[in-house]
Amino acid sequence: MTSNGAALGVLGGGQLGRMFVHAAQRLGHSTVVLDPDPASPAGAAADRHLCAAYDDAAALDALAAACSAITTEFENVPAAVLERLARDRRVAPGAAALRICQHRAREKACFDAAGIRCAPHALIESEADLGRIEPSIFPALLKTASLGYDGKGQAGVASAGDLAAAWAALGRGPCVLEKRLDLRREFSVIVARADDGAWVNLPVQQNLHRDGILAVTQVPAIDIPADVAQQAISAAAALAAELKYVGVLCVEFFLLADGSLVANEMAPRPHNSGHYSIDACDVSQFELQVRTLAGLPLTSPRQHSPAVMLNLLGDLWFVAGDAGPVTPPWPKILALPGAHLHLYGKAEPRRGRKMGHLTLTAATAEAARATALQAARLLGLPAF
Ligand code: ADP
Ligand code: MG
Repeated sequence: MTSNGAALGVLGGGQLGRMFVHAAQRLGHSTVVLDPDPASPAGAAADRHLCAAYDDAAALDALAAACSAITTEFENVPAAVLERLARDRRVAPGAAALRICQHRAREKACFDAAGIRCAPHALIESEADLGRIEPSIFPALLKTASLGYDGKGQAGVASAGDLAAAWAALGRGPCVLEKRLDLRREFSVIVARADDGAWVNLPVQQNLHRDGILAVTQVPAIDIPADVAQQAISAAAALAAELKYVGVLCVEFFLLADGSLVANEMAPRPHNSGHYSIDACDVSQFELQVRTLAGLPLTSPRQHSPAVMLNLLGDLWFVAGDAGPVTPPWPKILALPGAHLHLYGKAEPRRGRKMGHLTLTAATAEAARATALQAARLLGLPAF
């Protein structure tokens, strides 16, 4: 029994689960993580780690027996698993919302239903579909309909003649072909929505990707016009309402070169671009996740410090070349004012693997950016 009597469960044991566990524990909840990896970052932090597959019936029964409410940090948990848990436990977000976020075509249909503009696109499920594509969609990007992340499961398609080869390279499964848009900036909006429809949002986050992976998040989003930011917040709230969503939802947006707004994709969970909120806001995205799951009140998060977040990928351990991994110079990083270092406890650094993040807070956006550029230099990361 915890101080407030409720154990919270999470499906998935990655860094998002770990930061959820930290937030839940701070509010007096005990936590249970289900993840098949014995060395999972969230499993190591939780009160209890059920080390089993996501569809292991005995483990799901144990999770339901131990917890009053269950969430997910990993959108590819089979929706049927959530449905099973929801038979006798509170589960948020629900299986229906997860099912939509697991498939890019369903996601885009949901954007349409909520009246939110997204990139011109077509669903490709068969050889025959390849011949029915509007030529105006090229140049385009082909994305697997499910299981893509960090730019994986994507291929550029310059013209109609390249489509068949790209589809073959991605395994001939269901894919979405999307017009390649002329992006000025990328940004994201995180909303949290409660059972009664009340919702709050974090400030708009300006994101820079490198090789399809988030590299830098800056908040305030200095290059996003206020009216566009407001439009995006309204769109994210409309989507959450359309989905009857309970929990934390992140929507990624593009600001196009012509100044217009397009929704890219959504994530039914806290998002990498919201990690700064731990150190820069009075309520973090993970606390919002705990509050929505446990049925606690939502208050509007206030950002108390401008912030820049740098993602720390495994590549940083190999900047010296192909020799063995070398730990980055953390003491030099921690000597910077307003440096908040988060390492996820992953034993093995690998290129492209998210090992941690670094948030720099300061009294002004300019100062946060200046310190972040200093940190980037120390780590061998490009300027931004
Ligand atoms: P993931 O699930 O890997 O995050 P995204 O659909 O968000 O997949 O694509 C990753 C990145 O690729 C985006 O952040 C953006 O930089 C770029 N991208 C995706 N779709 C488009 C598009 N239609 N036009 C231009 N760039 C795009
Ligand atoms: Mg994305």
